[in-house]
Amino acid sequence: MDAHPHQLARMLDELGRVTDEPGRLTRTFLSPAMERANLVVGGWMREAALTVREDETGNLIGRLESPSPGAKTLLMGSHLDTVRNAGRFDGALGVVLPIVALAELKQRGVVLPFHVEILGFSEEEAVRFTGAYIGSKAYTGRLRMADLKLRDARNQTLLDVIEAHAEKRFKPPRPAHRPSNLLGYIEVHIEQGPVLEAKKLAVGVVSTIASQARGRLTFRGKAGHAGTTPMNLRRDALAGAAEFIVFAEAFAGARPPLVTTVGTINVQAGAANVIPGEAVLSLDVRHPNDAICDAALAELVRQAQRTARRRQLQCEWQPTMRHQATPCSTVLTTRLARSVRAVQGKSLTLISGAGHDGVVMASLTSIAMLFVRCRDGLSHHPDEYASPKDLEVALRVVVDFLEKLSADYANEPG
Ligand SMILES: [Zn+2]
Repeated sequence: MDAHPHQLARMLDELGRVTDEPGRLTRTFLSPAMERANLVVGGWMREAALTVREDETGNLIGRLESPSPGAKTLLMGSHLDTVRNAGRFDGALGVVLPIVALAELKQRGVVLPFHVEILGFSEEEAVRFTGAYIGSKAYTGRLRMADLKLRDARNQTLLDVIEAHAEKRFKPPRPAHRPSNLLGYIEVHIEQGPVLEAKKLAVGVVSTIASQARGRLTFRGKAGHAGTTPMNLRRDALAGAAEFIVFAEAFAGARPPLVTTVGTINVQAGAANVIPGEAVLSLDVRHPNDAICDAALAELVRQAQRTARRRQLQCEWQPTMRHQATPCSTVLTTRLARSVRAVQGKSLTLISGAGHDGVVMASLTSIAMLFVRCRDGLSHHPDEYASPKDLEVALRVVVDFLEKLSADYANEPG
């Protein structure tokens, strides 16, 4: 593997062609394309002198042993699965970039005083099974029986799929490491948002992965004939829902960095000549602070109920998901920001509004994340794009981070 600046972009192009669906990029949990992706990336890991193994849940694990046997281990990685019709950077970048960084250090004769493990998680995107993070949950020993009962579209349970792949009985593994043996987990990921582009910066450092709450709001009114029911005698569920959607947008707009989204709406009866009797909306609320996220959600639900009362509707809230905020480690983030400043001149701190494997990895060790600018903030789309120049900046940052950590660790292992 040569250390040409465009090497990383070329590898991501090659990996982006490994797909389950002709003509577009899709790799889902333990699919044939995931197995091929593990072969391709595993090959690159071996070229960089890593020892490669795959665990029972399809996680690809490349390990570079340090000559000092009692050393701790630094974890780096991301996921190799994708959404349907994906871009080639989301996830893949965070696995391939550290391989290139280690290859470069090896070429320069740098020997790290700690072990490094590069992780290509088998599942993060929740495409095949509705629960996300199967890969990092297995690695951190957090896969539960409830997860194993999830079913895919062919009605196979997660347990069946894992056992068929491993060709033996499976029981949820224990954590891959003891926390005291770890130096932390670093994930490089495209930003999936427009902030770095607006600030004209190639990379930035994540402070927190945001707190996230999601649920269903149901407005119930009374269906009626669109022609015969006068306006003042209607109880239009969709009109109430619409009022709430506009309120939620303005509410978050006045309270940055709070963000709220109504992403789906289902109307009954859903006919042009029927007054809507029921409207069900999804509501997604995110903020870096758990308490503020909870308070905002409570206020939004109260407002939905006020709107419903005034319009003689009923309103019901059903929570479906709550993820606490995951703060990144101050120590690791400070180190990463120092390397960003060394390479880019200045650093920028961002909040991650999207969840990442780091959320689960934080249960095992301290985490830090480096975000890379992506064009138009676009992701989960074939037009997803990070320029070779920006990839090069991210690579330089990770190499600098490893070199500085190496120097400090050699002086004071810990
Ligand atoms: Zn991702």
